[in-house]
Amino acid sequence: MNHYPKKKFGQNFLRDKNLLEKIVIKSHIEGKNVIEIGPGQGALTQFLAQYAKHLTAYEIDEQLKPFLLQYDAKDNVDIKYEDFIKVDLPEGDFHVVANLPYYITTPILFKLLETNSIKTASLMIQKEVCDRLLATPNQKAYNAISIIVQYYAKAYRMMNVNRKLFFPVPRVDSAVLRIEKYDKRILNGESEKTFFVIVKAAFKQKRKTLANNLHQVMGIEKDEVIKFLEAQGLTDKIRAEQIDMNTFIKLAEVWPYDN
Ligand code: SAM
Repeated sequence: MNHYPKKKFGQNFLRDKNLLEKIVIKSHIEGKNVIEIGPGQGALTQFLAQYAKHLTAYEIDEQLKPFLLQYDAKDNVDIKYEDFIKVDLPEGDFHVVANLPYYITTPILFKLLETNSIKTASLMIQKEVCDRLLATPNQKAYNAISIIVQYYAKAYRMMNVNRKLFFPVPRVDSAVLRIEKYDKRILNGESEKTFFVIVKAAFKQKRKTLANNLHQVMGIEKDEVIKFLEAQGLTDKIRAEQIDMNTFIKLAEVWPYDN
């Protein structure tokens, strides 16, 4: 079987069986319903099929069918040739294990966080992206998305992965990010919306103060923003990168303006 890896689909295939099995074991999927995004030539699929109760894998590239037929033939495996971004995910409890196509890491991550039926995810992503997602206040990589991930889930690095373990060898190193979602959201619908708006606005221009970003992005008078922040114990000089998630949550809860 011949398949020339397609760059446009982010195809970098894994070859190291020890690494693949280790990821599957550390994902604790025994007896569970599992979703794989981008099975490729089936490197990870073979172990997922072995350990999971049931596996649904979504692959965008139909030309990979000859590699995947042997897994699709198993009773507990279902391979669908669909774009994962576009599929409606089923109801129930699902656990995702995937070596992601890096060009769509962010939309996939948001889909997994926002879909309640997804309970955990083990995701191979770019190492630098993993650093950003796991960053904490006052670290250079700390950003709106670090806070959003933390809001939905307990997240940690399962392992770093050297680029040489992929074919073709990509230009970046990788890491496996582990996400274990909380059963309940911290905020209710309206304040949750406000929380996301504030967090995104706060980091709009990282060098600017929180007061300036909120003033400019949300169109509120500067003096008013400063008064509001001071009432919450925050100075007019503070920057978003110094503020932890819980403080952003408090701001969303008492936010007096329309978004
Ligand atoms: N799991 C395989 C492995 O570990 O060797 C392949 C991983 S490769 C990094 C990413 C895979 O995702 C490719 O097979 C690619 O065709 C597939 N893919 C890319 N975009 C996709 C999408 N929107 N929906 C589903 N699969 C996609």
